[in-house]
Amino acid sequence: MNQPAIGDQLIELLAPLEGWVLPLAEVPDPVFAAAMAGDGVALDPTSETLHAPCDGEVVLMGAATHSLTLRSRAGDVLMHVGIDTVQLGGAGFRLRVRNGEIVRAGQVLLDFDLDAIVRRAPSAITPVLLAGSRVGRIIRPQVGRRVAIGDFLFAVAMPVNAGPGPAVIPGTALTGRFRVPFDHGLHARPAARVAAALADLEVAVRLQIGGREANALSTVSMMALGVDRGDIIVAHASGRDAAAALAVLASLLETVAEAPRAPPPPAPADPVVAPAPGARLRGIVAARGLATGIAAPLLSADPPAGDPQGDAVTERARLMVAIEGVAAHVGKLAASGGGTGRSVLEAHLALLADPQLLRDAQAQLGRGASAGAAWRSALRNAAAALAAADDPRMAERRADLLDIERQVLRVLGGVAADAPIQLPERAIVITSELLPSQLLALDGARLAGLCMAEGGATSHVAILAASMGLPTLVATGKSVLAIAAGTPLVLDAELGCLLVNPPATERQQAEALIASRARERARDMSAAQQPATMRDGTCIHVYCNLGGVAEAAPAVRAGAEGCGLLRTEFLFLDRERAPDEGEQLAEYQAIAAALAGRTLTIRTLDAGGDKPIVYLPLPREENPALGLRGLRTSLARPDLLTSQLRAIVRVTPTGQCRVLLPMVTELGEVRAVRAQLATVASDFRVPTPKLGIMIETPASALLADQLAAEVDFLSIGSNDLSQYTLAMDRLHPTLAPRLDALHPAVLRLIERAAQAGAARGIEVGVCGGLASDPVAVPVLIGLGVRELSVVPAQIPRIKSLVRTLVNDACILLAREALGLESAAAVRERVRTWSEHNA
Ligand code: PEP
Ligand code: MG
Repeated sequence: MNQPAIGDQLIELLAPLEGWVLPLAEVPDPVFAAAMAGDGVALDPTSETLHAPCDGEVVLMGAATHSLTLRSRAGDVLMHVGIDTVQLGGAGFRLRVRNGEIVRAGQVLLDFDLDAIVRRAPSAITPVLLAGSRVGRIIRPQVGRRVAIGDFLFAVAMPVNAGPGPAVIPGTALTGRFRVPFDHGLHARPAARVAAALADLEVAVRLQIGGREANALSTVSMMALGVDRGDIIVAHASGRDAAAALAVLASLLETVAEAPRAPPPPAPADPVVAPAPGARLRGIVAARGLATGIAAPLLSADPPAGDPQGDAVTERARLMVAIEGVAAHVGKLAASGGGTGRSVLEAHLALLADPQLLRDAQAQLGRGASAGAAWRSALRNAAAALAAADDPRMAERRADLLDIERQVLRVLGGVAADAPIQLPERAIVITSELLPSQLLALDGARLAGLCMAEGGATSHVAILAASMGLPTLVATGKSVLAIAAGTPLVLDAELGCLLVNPPATERQQAEALIASRARERARDMSAAQQPATMRDGTCIHVYCNLGGVAEAAPAVRAGAEGCGLLRTEFLFLDRERAPDEGEQLAEYQAIAAALAGRTLTIRTLDAGGDKPIVYLPLPREENPALGLRGLRTSLARPDLLTSQLRAIVRVTPTGQCRVLLPMVTELGEVRAVRAQLATVASDFRVPTPKLGIMIETPASALLADQLAAEVDFLSIGSNDLSQYTLAMDRLHPTLAPRLDALHPAVLRLIERAAQAGAARGIEVGVCGGLASDPVAVPVLIGLGVRELSVVPAQIPRIKSLVRTLVNDACILLAREALGLESAAAVRERVRTWSEHNA
């Protein structure tokens, strides 16, 4: 710990907040944690006002209100309320001082809405730092204790003769021009990175923009420049390391080769050309299927916000009536729908009741806005804050916000909340992007398929479409929007293309295929309750994947012999707090009852990654797929894991449930849960349920022999196993078509897991998307997989397919597949093999 030197002057800093004092290293942000922005402590706040920790002059960072600095005798004291709060765009913060104001220790500087920060930002932890000082040293930071406002926080030791360092260091003088690439300009973290990267060089660097100037060695000085993303700054470096300093800046910013010229006149927007008859537009399959029909373009224009029809009280009343009308309609849809659709609608209900949105709208009404304008402004602000987070996982939440914005505005414009959107017969709806509520408002009896110019295959609307069995293509590009209403179309959401006004023969072929598929489906369905026994007598268990209770009974009717994967995260997503033990027990018990004694495999919470949970204060991660997700999250939150395990062991009849752990990488994780499961089971005096693991990381596949020795079953998660093996993000819009789990590298890992399971005599299943893919089924069986857990709609087909296969032939096919070069080659080989083995 730093000690003051003889002659040092000690300056005390007082706690600006009430809360718990933490060492900087515990701040869930690498820049602050590594003290790149300066040395100090962090406070986990329990109060909602920021006070001055010492006398000083207020330095505001451009328009930002989430952080401020006091220029004091101790140096620049930076206080940054929460982590990543720049993305909130000032929402929830109210400054009580002006830039340049002289304040006394203890004076109120800023009010903030702690609740909003906790809900919307990764953390409320507030670093209090001595920013960019090479002079003062922090001493006696007493961490691990609670402080009240004004309590001693830490002291700064200043050498008595300390003065500002030389502004210019002799040596070379160089100039460079850089564009700021960071989303929110030079805010605290990027500024700290720049300052830290330059800190050890013998150089002085001034940054200039539009007559303003900052010292690039000072985080605070750079933040105060108020530069935005895309701004061009000029750096003047002087000193022995001037060239190195410019190289450092070039590595952190974007180099601009020449002085900026006047921007060229904007190019005329590309006219969207209607595809010619017979054109074949490529897209990404979001819900598999084939459909013929006619184009039904859907305009998704924003409804107008409308003018005020009275004073603020009248407008507030209009807004509340409209919100209640929409909530009643959405609530009715949620109650009648099931599974995934219901969870989307429940998310919308939560947003309609969100107190922060209502507060923001209320503030706008107070400024004279109409009900519609106030609602739009509140939702757009919230959406902008999410957009600022630059986190692809937030795209769904933005779509949800836009959805409820439009619904409420339509009602304010006089349209009934439940008015259906009219369609022609056999409509293939074409739109830029569809919102979940728009899909649910379409007349399902006339809807044959969906085609979106934009959108992703894993969006809420895509998941909804899949649960409705609606063939859906996304990301076809804008030209699809120019297709005239009534144009005949074939939507092939298997090969991923839309045929525009195809020749009659192609249309007839597609129609014949659809009709023969319908006949096959009826045939498969009539045998769905029979076991899936191969021609040589080998028995394959066909289970279902479930997201909630509503899907369980239909899955049993479709022939499910049990549930191989209950994705419990749907119970945890899109809500304000985790479901408690009682709520979980009720859900699991209802599913167990619907399965009528069949095995129910309950996967513990697989949160994080592409399944973020707002109330889990997980640190923001650069790469969430490689971060705290699945079992890692559960082990970091033992309270959540315990309540989940307790709910599972309480399900009756005892023994119907098995526990499945996601994202396992090594034995230690499994042992930790096994011990906890045994304790929980003994608390309720019931036998410990079977415990299995997902094989969905390459690590678990490679260590499957060790893991199989200590678990009761293995379940291969081919979705994640392929994303991690092929290093392709499963949410990536352009890589998605190449993310094929039939890749030989993935198959080799599956083989390894299957062999490990067989050696230990435990069951090995596949519950990822590969199990539902008819092309993959003979290969998986040939590799030794004996349980396929599939989407309920595919069960009859997969069972029928299994009954046509012979195990020895599958083994030969699988061996061949392991030696091929690509997933495409495997698919092609299975196709020719099937022709000879059918
Ligand atoms: C998988 O990764 O294959 C899997 C079944 O888990 P999820 O898709 O829920 O991540
Ligand atoms: Mg997975």
